[in-house]
Amino acid sequence: MKKEANTIVNTLKAKKLRVTPQRFAVYANLLERTDHPTAEQILSDLNQNAPTSSQATVYSALQALREVGLVREVLLEPGICRYDANIEAHHHFRCRCCGVIEDLPWDTFESINLKGLRQGIKAERYEVIVEGICDRCE
Ligand SMILES: [Zn+2]
Ligand SMILES: [Zn+2]
Repeated sequence: MKKEANTIVNTLKAKKLRVTPQRFAVYANLLERTDHPTAEQILSDLNQNAPTSSQATVYSALQALREVGLVREVLLEPGICRYDANIEAHHHFRCRCCGVIEDLPWDTFESINLKGLRQGIKAERYEVIVEGICDRCE
């Protein structure tokens, strides 16, 4: 999902986000990876070459990106918030050995019948989380 710098700038502008170096760096980092990193992992990645980012700036950049819908939170483990720049509808697989998280295309499953829900519940969205063992751990 690697994107050109000006594509990223235009995407941010199209969402009426002021383009700051931090927002750019955080979004570019997320677009390059598919491992659903935590804020801490993004921070350490960004600081590998030049330690210029702080935890607060990474968090506030993530917050801004999330508010305009360019980034979403992925909550697969209790108390751990991960981030995903893939905002298309998709499901997730999580390996319980190594913890790797992989995107599963939306059409992996036949559509789920939400009519089975009890009366009174209005479903708005859902996604499937598949847990198991990945091919590298088996
Ligand atoms: Zn694994
Ligand atoms: Zn994902």
